[in-house]
Amino acid sequence: MSKVAITRTNEDLYKSVGDAIDLIGGIGKYVKKGDTVLIKPNAFINKEEKGFISDPKVVLSLAKLCKEQGAKEVYIGERTPTVFKWYKKEDINFAKIVCFDDPPHNLRTLPEAEVIKSAVPIPKIVEECDVFINVPGLRFHALTIISNGMKNMMGIMPKETTLLIHVSGLEDAIVDLNRFRKSDLVVTTAIHTLVGNFPVSGYGIESNTLIVGDNVVAVDAIAAKILKVDPYEIRHLTLANKLGLGPIDLPEIELSGVPIESLEWREKIVRPVLDYEEFRDKINIIDPSKNCLGCKRAMASGIAGIFEENPKADLKDITLVIGPVEELNKHKLTDKIILFGNCTFPYKDKGLYVQGCPPRANMAKQAIKKIMEDK
Ligand code: SF4
Repeated sequence: MSKVAITRTNEDLYKSVGDAIDLIGGIGKYVKKGDTVLIKPNAFINKEEKGFISDPKVVLSLAKLCKEQGAKEVYIGERTPTVFKWYKKEDINFAKIVCFDDPPHNLRTLPEAEVIKSAVPIPKIVEECDVFINVPGLRFHALTIISNGMKNMMGIMPKETTLLIHVSGLEDAIVDLNRFRKSDLVVTTAIHTLVGNFPVSGYGIESNTLIVGDNVVAVDAIAAKILKVDPYEIRHLTLANKLGLGPIDLPEIELSGVPIESLEWREKIVRPVLDYEEFRDKINIIDPSKNCLGCKRAMASGIAGIFEENPKADLKDITLVIGPVEELNKHKLTDKIILFGNCTFPYKDKGLYVQGCPPRANMAKQAIKKIMEDK
């Protein structure tokens, strides 16, 4: 049975991390003498506000624990050079900091992949490490509702190759990556939790919590429950569960530590904007197909972002086309048209086309801003 523990942290984060992992067998269960360990935090966002990256103090405590356990080498790795901002090579003598954008990489066709069909560069260390520790920050996300361990795997893709994930079908691609590289241990750093309309906006709330576990799907299912989200609402979790990558039902997870209900900070949770129905009278939306939520969520978050910046924004002369549309000309159109997502490709010359499946939420906001400025 998969083990997950929820714990509260105190000022001694090194002890807090060790105590949390003790509840699922102790660090010695995961790291053996002579192992090469790779720790993958979420560390690519260059923002000072709390909650936008995995807590660096937790990551460093974990790296220290691994080294003390006898690991031969401990690496902390992430895509984009921002990793060097949060982890300064010269200050850390028990771990090496690597940027996955830098070589060496292996070009790999992912076996069993459902949507990432082309060969992709995979950092050698991701394949060659003995132990892969996935250390996400706890957050909501406008496209996937929550972002935790499974989505953190997007960060093993160097540079612009992460865009491939967005055009391939985001949530299916997340599952492909998790099938390719299993997380041996997951440590979610919810010292601050990112809530609200992330990634368009969002903010961190203090939460002083860790979620640790030996299965990424199980940890993410518990993370979802902590964020008051039903794991069955999250496509990448249900897909992974169906493929046998891990459990999402409570009776199949051995849960220890503090009860979810005891986490008082959950009262401050604010979900991202996932639906644009409330904006229909403010912007012309053409979306006859109701089957796919991807573009809908991205656009909802983008529109909300526009009104967060300017509650009086006038979008009445903009038409959004979302999802497959059979005969666009049969619909009421305005002068300014945004064709949003790969499904609208057949009409791409009729307005501002935004590629992606779904495109990122920030791309939705940027597209609206751009077309607002057009004469
Ligand atoms: S509506 Fe089309 S482009 Fe958008 S997420 Fe769904 S399948 Fe992908």
